Amino acid sequence: MATRERRPATRRPPRPPGRACSSFRAVTTPRHPPLAALREPPPEVRRAAGRLAGLRVDMQRLKRDVLELAEIGRNPADRGIYRMAFTDADMEAKRWLADRLEAAGIPAWMDGAGSVHGRLGADEAPGVLIGSHTDTVPRAGMLDGALGVLAGLECMRALGERGIALERPVELISFSDEEGRFGGMFGSEAFCGLITPESLHFTALDGAVLHEEMRRCGLDPLLALDARRPPGTIDCYLELHIEQGPVLERAGDAVGVVEHITGLFKWLVRFHGEADHAGTTPMELRRDAFLGLAEFANEIPRLLEENGTERSRATIGKTQIMPGAPNTVPGEVEFSLDVRDVSQESLTELADALRKALAAIARRRRLTMDLEFQAEVAPVPCDAGLIGLLEDVARELGVRHRRLPSGANHDAQLVAGIAPAAMIFVPSRDGKSHSPREWTDWPDIEAGANVLLHAVAERARRPA
Ligand SMILES: [Zn+2]
Repeated sequence: MATRERRPATRRPPRPPGRACSSFRAVTTPRHPPLAALREPPPEVRRAAGRLAGLRVDMQRLKRDVLELAEIGRNPADRGIYRMAFTDADMEAKRWLADRLEAAGIPAWMDGAGSVHGRLGADEAPGVLIGSHTDTVPRAGMLDGALGVLAGLECMRALGERGIALERPVELISFSDEEGRFGGMFGSEAFCGLITPESLHFTALDGAVLHEEMRRCGLDPLLALDARRPPGTIDCYLELHIEQGPVLERAGDAVGVVEHITGLFKWLVRFHGEADHAGTTPMELRRDAFLGLAEFANEIPRLLEENGTERSRATIGKTQIMPGAPNTVPGEVEFSLDVRDVSQESLTELADALRKALAAIARRRRLTMDLEFQAEVAPVPCDAGLIGLLEDVARELGVRHRRLPSGANHDAQLVAGIAPAAMIFVPSRDGKSHSPREWTDWPDIEAGANVLLHAVAERARRPA
């Protein structure tokens, strides 16, 4: 990718809103038809050139894995899962995954960044890589990340058991610290060669320093710099993930084929005015910093409409009013601004328009302004060939599907910089994620896993 997220050395930006819970009414759209068709493949599947009729994941086994992994790091009091990167629970989950791979006869290992790998097929051809993550946010649900890893494991087992001749190895990777205890996407950054020795000094909000925590877990932090995957050794990357939004559920589709992964920029904005007495200072003499923020917030919908696309999102998720006393005119405000779109062009236009609007408001209200650029991530299109393959497979399996963008960031965004990448989404009940309420119906999980399986099989059987 062209730009990488830049992070302050000791401060983590707030969670991207695209991944946070969103609240909306439960929808009652009829579900997609039950997946009976999946068990008895329709004739066109059997006819499909080169496709493997009857190849399916073992849903009972996948379900058992999901429920078993969910017990690692579970807090019985709030039912949330706590497997933040490089905690004991996170390491236990990594060992559990490695054991599962080995039990299936698939060699497993951990790279220097703490990402767990498994590999089916011994030859040296570029591998078909399936990935996601098993670390979580605090008080997480059981599917974010874990589902992609476990679906990948199940695909490897299904391919291995059928004894399907593979022209390329199929590899699984569970990336470490996707969720951001130490900034996020540490495993995929290391894998793509994007970390430096400085990255190892990242300090978490709980005060833990990355290299110290890695050492505590028995890892040599400097080896993370060796986790880079040589270019040209990956055929493609596929990631199955929960949608974390409402689109698929509302549409009644079982599977989403991701077209673009959103890009974003994050700013921290400060307006400085003057703190004065709320009773004695006439309105026209005030330099009220909060009114500057209020005016700007009110302009956001218009600015997006005029300068963005229908996929533009802008969020002020955190504000602080200073000095913060009920009887004092706010002399200063600080607020976050998180802006996302799948088009770099519209992100650039939005940045320009938002900056001009902030400056105009500051001028009008006699405020001064600081703008701190906290992060920038370029949008990434998924690979057109892989999108087409996923759609063909879904159609042939009789799975209701649609294309959609990803509003959240994923490891796939980084891996797309070194190999063709694509993502499969499955519906999130009520759009919830990062919460014990996170859920996807089992038939949808089965449909998504079977689409992944056939796409992987197709790629891995192509002559190297
Ligand atoms: Zn995730």
